Amino acid sequence: MSQETVDLNCIGWDVHIVSAISFQENIRLALLRNGVIRAVTRVLPFIISQNTSIANRPLAARCIVNASAFLNTRLEDLDGVPLVIEAIDSDVIPSLMKCEPLLPYADHATARDQPITLLGSVLARYTIYRSVLRPTLLSMDAVEASRMELNLIKDGQLHQAWIRLKEVVAERRRLLGHDIADGYHIQSCQNHKCGRAGEIGSFKRCGGCLHTFYCSKACQRDDWRDGKHHLYCNGVHRRYLRTDGQMAGLRQKDIRFLDQVIIAELRKHTARINAHHLKTNVVEFNFVGQNVDTIFDSRRVKPAPFGIKCSCEKFAHEMWNRMIEKAKEAPEPLILARTYIPGGMSRKVLLRALPLRCVLEDVSRTYYREDKNSLTFPSHLSLAYTCCGRNSLEKETTTGKKRLL
Ligand SMILES: [Zn+2]
Ligand SMILES: [Zn+2]
Ligand SMILES: [Zn+2]
Repeated sequence: MSQETVDLNCIGWDVHIVSAISFQENIRLALLRNGVIRAVTRVLPFIISQNTSIANRPLAARCIVNASAFLNTRLEDLDGVPLVIEAIDSDVIPSLMKCEPLLPYADHATARDQPITLLGSVLARYTIYRSVLRPTLLSMDAVEASRMELNLIKDGQLHQAWIRLKEVVAERRRLLGHDIADGYHIQSCQNHKCGRAGEIGSFKRCGGCLHTFYCSKACQRDDWRDGKHHLYCNGVHRRYLRTDGQMAGLRQKDIRFLDQVIIAELRKHTARINAHHLKTNVVEFNFVGQNVDTIFDSRRVKPAPFGIKCSCEKFAHEMWNRMIEKAKEAPEPLILARTYIPGGMSRKVLLRALPLRCVLEDVSRTYYREDKNSLTFPSHLSLAYTCCGRNSLEKETTTGKKRLL
């Protein structure tokens, strides 16, 4: 018996209207702050739970497609990560696993692709963040336990998306179990003239951009003026203000986990790195797309991150060039890794200098003990650069200095 008391046409239009008004920035920010991701995600299980008559299935399919399309676009708003977590906590994964019977009723192939892209692509790439990976694993384990996979059309598109998600998280799940010893995660004072290193958490953070670290007030002052930190910081700080403080930035735990991911990725290329016999190996990873893109040859690494669309990216690029220069003075062979990670509207790049032997050997045992107390700049560096989220090289003003937090 069908329960046609629910107005599917109305729900489909509601989601469509939410999508349409979300193009207005101030409305979108208010909606995101008030849980629109959760609300739209919950449309999925609600529609699936209805015993929809054949005549109404095209309307039900439209609700699923509209909700998935909205999530595909808006999960990557702001910093991305908190919104993706919100969707996972609202059971987006099991809901997507159950939507397949309605998909043939969708208006066209592009519409049908929306839930598939969401599962196999958008959600999969954000599992590079530990804070996304953990709830994703819980949700996937529940899906596995209930044997939902068996209901999918074998080798159908949704099945393939599920397999892709499983493959991506399988490797990352293994890395979760191997957290590197604390002493391995070192940060450097980001005044390039100083270069002192310390345990993550021992340095003070810039109160403007919230993710640049200094050993002292003197170093912050120096970098603000001479290191042109103000150009970067003001852009990122304006983004923070523009979004009513909704931009969160990278969490320390996520950065620690990214270390693991980068090293695991580098270790897949050990033979190649050894064969190169280079003092400085330059590697670029791109985790933003469907697959991990790796560029190995220093000469072929694109000179400009993200094509340099704004002053923060220009700044990150200058820091990268400076790292390459400094690497030449290092006492031992290094790997410089430039890694792009998904991060919503605030595109993110991680610049890391790693001693070659810490990549080739077991870091948790050898690197930590020997080098913890004798670090100088190029030996180890962790920098994360985010972006103001604006595609312009507009003239930056140099307003007041920022506090250390
Ligand atoms: Zn700053
Ligand atoms: Zn310093
Ligand atoms: Zn920017």
